[in-house]
Amino acid sequence: MTTDFERAREKMVKEQIIGRGIHDRKVLAAMRKVPRHLFVAEELQGLSYADRPLPIDMQQTISQPYMVALMTEALELSGDEKVLEIGTGSGYQAAVLAEICKIVYSVESFPGLHEKASALLRGLGYKNVVTTVADGTRGWPQHQPYDAIIVTAGAPDIPTPLLDQLAEGGRLLIPVGNHVSQQLKKVIRLADGFSEEMLLGCQFVPLRGEHGW
Ligand code: SAH
Repeated sequence: MTTDFERAREKMVKEQIIGRGIHDRKVLAAMRKVPRHLFVAEELQGLSYADRPLPIDMQQTISQPYMVALMTEALELSGDEKVLEIGTGSGYQAAVLAEICKIVYSVESFPGLHEKASALLRGLGYKNVVTTVADGTRGWPQHQPYDAIIVTAGAPDIPTPLLDQLAEGGRLLIPVGNHVSQQLKKVIRLADGFSEEMLLGCQFVPLRGEHGW
């Protein structure tokens, strides 16, 4: 039996994700599979497949589905990567990544969000997501280098520790700008430095911490 949520999720993928040019099959399969409605409060579940970010606890947000898909596609994952996420939040982006790569390390600075997200991810059976409470602007040195790093909060600048912890050939996605709006940047670590590309304008909650706001 197909549920209303499954129907809404399929519609979301068709209209918001494929309709806007995302075509990586692994990304589409992950977006089709992860039950986004379980990552928001019950009273918001009816909106969970809408084309918008939604509030979660601590005045934070779960990103718009299109932004999650776009960032995931831009990380160019083939399946055997070690990925670092800064800003676990609801855990939704971590789940999408976990569907595609080998292991996700995800850092959240609010203990309450960390606890809720890790319990949910565990409950859903994601054994390849490892979470912690820390200031993610320092990265997670213990497990470096990372094939991909995704920052899901807006930074004033690219935190140097994240560049340091990126493997050669690795991709870093990070919104950089002010408190209101940012530009999504994609950085690639080359043998002799970094390349940087601007993808699109975006609006994320602020990245706090030593190398953040
Ligand atoms: N990826 C999340 C979106 C979370 S919103 C999801 O799919 O739901 C951004 C998150 O970044 C918030 O939860 C916020 O608390 C967290 N955050 C902000 N600054 C941080 C920092 N320095 N270290 C770790 N997490 C941080």
